[in-house]
Amino acid sequence: MSKNNEEIFKNVISHAKEYGFVFQSSEIYDGLSAVYDYGQLGAELKNNIKTYWWKAMVQMNENIVGIDSAIFMHPKVWKASGHVDGFSDPMIDNKDSQKRYRADQLLEDKIEVYKTTGEIEKAGSLQTDMDDALKAEDLPRLKALIEEHKIACPVSKTCNWTDVRQFNLMFSTQFGAMAEGAEEVYLRPETAQGIFVNFLNVQKSGRMKIPFGIAQIGKAFRNEVIARQFIMRMREFEQMEMQFFVRPGTEMEWYKKWKETRLKWHLALGTDPAKYQFHDHAKLAHYANAAVDIEYEFPFGFKEVEGIHSRTDFDLTQHQEFSRKKMQYFDPEVNPETGKPYGNYVPYVIETSIGLDRFFLVTMMNAFEEQDLSTDEKQDSRSLLKLHPALAPYKAAVLPLTKKDGLPEKAREIMDALKLDFSMAYDEKDAIGKRYRRQDAIGTPYCITIDYDTLTDNTVTIRHRDSMEQERVAIADLGKIIGDLVSWKNLLG
Ligand code: ATP
Repeated sequence: MSKNNEEIFKNVISHAKEYGFVFQSSEIYDGLSAVYDYGQLGAELKNNIKTYWWKAMVQMNENIVGIDSAIFMHPKVWKASGHVDGFSDPMIDNKDSQKRYRADQLLEDKIEVYKTTGEIEKAGSLQTDMDDALKAEDLPRLKALIEEHKIACPVSKTCNWTDVRQFNLMFSTQFGAMAEGAEEVYLRPETAQGIFVNFLNVQKSGRMKIPFGIAQIGKAFRNEVIARQFIMRMREFEQMEMQFFVRPGTEMEWYKKWKETRLKWHLALGTDPAKYQFHDHAKLAHYANAAVDIEYEFPFGFKEVEGIHSRTDFDLTQHQEFSRKKMQYFDPEVNPETGKPYGNYVPYVIETSIGLDRFFLVTMMNAFEEQDLSTDEKQDSRSLLKLHPALAPYKAAVLPLTKKDGLPEKAREIMDALKLDFSMAYDEKDAIGKRYRRQDAIGTPYCITIDYDTLTDNTVTIRHRDSMEQERVAIADLGKIIGDLVSWKNLLG
């Protein structure tokens, strides 16, 4: 990471803390590694992101429904899904520092170093060698690559490495009160399996016809070998996933469609398209026949925010086998080739899976700006969160110019009327300029100032966050003005 990028990233992290977006979990006990809490504004922003996703995926699509399945699931689920045997990362320890790393990440970091020093050929060949080794699950080869490229531990600076081993990422716990007889269960490492095991329940009770989707938002847990980069890689995080069930043979069409649809969802927020790229997977997961990441350019490089996977019929077939319950769908539509209905089959699945926390970070990175507002007369600056108004924690702030002469009472009246429809802030402390800056820093699109004229003519000043321009409007029009700006129609229409 360049010095400048490191600085930007650090500033966003401290801004997130200072204004109540994200705190480290259990901070008073020095924190718990890779676990974070969302503060008063973070919770609002997170909820708004969830709403944006849920509206786009569930409410805008008649053939997609949403569920909320439990975190605990029958242990056999994770046997069937392949997670018990295969959900692991290659890890390696440095014998001198006792620090543990993901072997593939050490190599990826080295590739980045080669790229920044202009050794493009070396970067390319290491990438190919690493991809081949990962594909073949050749752990000794991964170690050999680390040694060949003289990758040293960032802490001890030595190349004294252990062998590469696989490390399962699932957290387990005991289910049931009795010590003996208690069963080992897992905290789900993805929300997808809760959808697969409910496939028939939803299809039947919702009379769903293929193609159709089931979506859900929920917590997932992974005991990541190393966790770093703030809320990028957490041990407890949230996913927004949708499984789209299709007729076998049509999956590539749908894969393409969801790839485009999901990128559009990201870009609708006004993000510079150059900040996004698709990255096709070199190593496909055991269940996939095609997979692509939607990557965003963080200060530390392009990284995955969302995955689109063509999961074939792998999961449903596995659950059919392990549960001995049929996971079939009867398709009454007539196949033009045979003149007969398509009949019974296990559907194929396209998955879209986005990390809510990672997207939260994307949103903060995109929105954060430090503006120099200095003039010849005086030095000035402001921190700004240019959040899309639909995502902003507060839609408007109500600010009486002074704390006396009936202004607070009038302001409260306005506040009470607007808070029925919008998330609103109220602030009467400090000079008005300072209050504006406070709202800029948390992304509030409008500040509404109540002054002495308001008492006589029922008008207020509205200040726009980004342009800092002000205009005089009637109190009676405030609901419509705010409503138009923050409407979901601006994103989904
Ligand atoms: P990575 O390669 O970064 O570990 P992944 O390919 O394992 O991610 P998926 O299993 O495809 O990730 O999960 C879907 C999404 O969930 C990811 O695109 C990411 O946004 C999010 N996600 C996965 N692991 C984490 C984590 N540890 N912390 C936060 N978000 C995560």
